[in-house]
Amino acid sequence: MASRDFSKTGINTRLAHTGNDPHAYHGFVNPPVVHASTVLFPDAHTMATRGQKYTYGTHGTPTTDALALAIDTLEGSAGTIMVPSGLAAVTVPLLAFLSAGDHVLIVDSVYGPTRRFADSMLSRLGVEVEYYDPEIGGGISALMRKNTKVVFTESPGSNTFEIQDIPAIADAAHAGGAIVMMDNTWATPLYFRALDFGVDITIHAATKYPAGHSDVLLGTVSANEACWSQLLDAYTNLGMCVGPDDVYQVLRGLRTMGVRLERHQQSAFDIARWLESQAGVAQVLHPGLASHPGHALWKRDFSGASGIFSIVLSGGGQAEAHAFLDALKIFGLGYSWGGYESLAVNVYLGDRTIARGPYEGPVLRLQIGLEDVADLKMDIARGLTAARNAT
Ligand SMILES: *Cc1c(COP(=O)(O)O)cnc(C)c1O
Repeated sequence: MASRDFSKTGINTRLAHTGNDPHAYHGFVNPPVVHASTVLFPDAHTMATRGQKYTYGTHGTPTTDALALAIDTLEGSAGTIMVPSGLAAVTVPLLAFLSAGDHVLIVDSVYGPTRRFADSMLSRLGVEVEYYDPEIGGGISALMRKNTKVVFTESPGSNTFEIQDIPAIADAAHAGGAIVMMDNTWATPLYFRALDFGVDITIHAATKYPAGHSDVLLGTVSANEACWSQLLDAYTNLGMCVGPDDVYQVLRGLRTMGVRLERHQQSAFDIARWLESQAGVAQVLHPGLASHPGHALWKRDFSGASGIFSIVLSGGGQAEAHAFLDALKIFGLGYSWGGYESLAVNVYLGDRTIARGPYEGPVLRLQIGLEDVADLKMDIARGLTAARNAT
C-alpha cells in the first residue's frame, strides 16, 4: 500500500478516506467500535512505563482515534478531543484556559447556553466576563486588558447570523496576549477552516451536521500545536470521555457530510432568496445574501453556507410568531439543527446586551433540511399567511 496522506486532496475525498486505515484492521472499511475501560498490559514493565499506545478507556481507543484523526485532517489541527455534547465542547476549553482573576471577551451573539455557562460558572470561579459587538472587528483591541486570556468568537452569530472579522479579531487578541476560540458549528470545517484564519481552538457541535440525523449528541474541540497540551490536560483531568457508539455514528455521518451540506446549502439559498420577496417578511438573515450586512466578510472568508438562517417578520409579536409555527406541516418545532429534517423555532434575544436589534417583528430561525424545496416553500407560505392573519 502506498502511504495514505489525504491532506492535499479535495474535501470529499478527505471525508471519505480520513480517520481509520482499513488495512490496519483486516481490511474492514470501517473502524471497530471498541467498548473499553480496562486495557491489559503484557508485563509489569510495560504497565509501569505506560509503554503501549492504549492504556485505559478514558484515554482513547482506536474508535476515538479514528474520529479525532478525521477531524484533525479537516481542521488542520494538532489534536482533537471528543466530549458528550456541543455545549461541553464550549465549556471544557473555557475551563482549560481561564483562571480566577482572568478576563474573557465573548461575542454577544453567542449560542445562548454558552452565555449561561459564562454568567454562572465562569463568574462564580472568579472570571470576569464581558460581551462584545459581533461587528467590532479590529476595534476589539480597545476592550483588551492585561488579564484578557481568551476571546471567544462564534461566526455567524447564533440565531441572528452576524459575521465577525475573525482575522482582525485574532490579530488584536494575539497582540494582547490572549488566545482565540471559535464555535465553528455553523460552517463546519468544510466552509470555514478556522485555524487558517488565526483561531487557536475550534469548537463543533458534532451533534449538528457531522452526525446529521438528529440522533447523536457529541462535541469536538480541536487545537493548534501551541494550545494542544493544555487542552488535553484539562480534558484528562476533568474525566471527560464519550461512548464509542456515538463516536462511530459521527464518523459515519462525516463520510456523507460533504454531499449533505451541498444540498442543505443549495436549498437554503433557494428558499432564502425566495423569502426576500415574500409578503410579511421584513428581512432574511442569511450571510450569503447580498443584502446581509456581513456579506462581504462572508464572501472573503467562507467557502460556503450551511442550511440554517433566520427571517424577521414585518411586524407583530408572539401571536404572529406562534401562528407561523403552528401552521407548519413539514417543518418540525424543535431545537438543534443539522439533521436531515427541516425545523423552525421562534428566536429569543432577551438575554443579549448588544446584538438585539431592533428588529421589525419576531425572528424565526429555519433549518432547511433535505426535503424537496417546493414542499418546504409551500409550508413556509402557509406559515406566512397564518402570521398575516393572526391578530
Ligand atoms: C447546538 C449548538 C451547540 C450545542 O450543541 P449540543 O450538542 O446540542 O450541546 C453549541 N454551539 C452552537 C453554535 C450550537 O448551535
